Amino acid sequence: MNFVTETSPVGTLVRDSGIPTRTIAKATVIEGTGIHSGTSCRVHIQPRDAGEGIAFTRAGRTPVPATWKFADAQSSDRRTVIIGADGERFEQIEHLMAALHALGISDALVEQQGPEVPFLGGGSREYIDALRQSGITENGGILPVIHIEHPISLEDGGALLTAAPHNGLILSAYVEFPGTVVGNMGYNLEVSPERFYDQVSAARTFALASDIEALRSRGLARGGNLQNAVVFDEFRYHNESLHFPDEVARHKIIDLLGDLALLGCGLSGHFWAWRAGHRSHVLFAQKIARGLHLTS
Ligand SMILES: [Zn+2]
Repeated sequence: MNFVTETSPVGTLVRDSGIPTRTIAKATVIEGTGIHSGTSCRVHIQPRDAGEGIAFTRAGRTPVPATWKFADAQSSDRRTVIIGADGERFEQIEHLMAALHALGISDALVEQQGPEVPFLGGGSREYIDALRQSGITENGGILPVIHIEHPISLEDGGALLTAAPHNGLILSAYVEFPGTVVGNMGYNLEVSPERFYDQVSAARTFALASDIEALRSRGLARGGNLQNAVVFDEFRYHNESLHFPDEVARHKIIDLLGDLALLGCGLSGHFWAWRAGHRSHVLFAQKIARGLHLTS
């Protein structure tokens, strides 16, 4: 990566962070049903050299870097989308991106086999289990870390996002579904691999029951069910049980981390998201990147 300047009104990019870059020790295949297609999908995740970053590819095609520059905010309504220079498109990358970031994996190539990435349990847990099983190894580089030094915020529709200085990474996410069983709900996480795994990674995607038919008519959510998604309405959760009482807010932490991972760096700051979704997360990552004069 090349950076025009090291400091900016947003913060500092610390290149000598002392944190090693990491990749996976050996290639691994993760299989499961796609949430939207409802068909069998696989990703073949392969090691990469230091500084190469995370990228998605299909067999024989040019990899698309999973960074803010290739993220398409307009397409990222219910899931995060990256689009390569040649139009190659990858969707629903956020739960895998969150798993990689939480584990400190900075470099890996994800080859998608099938129409989308596997949805697995609806969060990041099974990805983390599989990545840990394949082994995680340092690959000789130093991870650049973004230190937020001045508050930065973004408003997008009804969403508000801010980032403020903090030594370490705290994520806060708030949802509002007035008139439903979820209501107003928030969750804060001081991120470490263990806390991410224990406290949020098993939190599932969620949907309003009344939205599901609309999603299906758009060809989405065909692989969704009450095992991999929390479904709710005005009065109740449709699932027999929840993984956490505040599962919806905890899932938002996964989505936020997965989208901030598009910055391609370690993160030090307090990132706060209110009524935000993938589109506003992506716009915020892009605003931070431009504020820091990141070029890739
Ligand atoms: Zn999600």
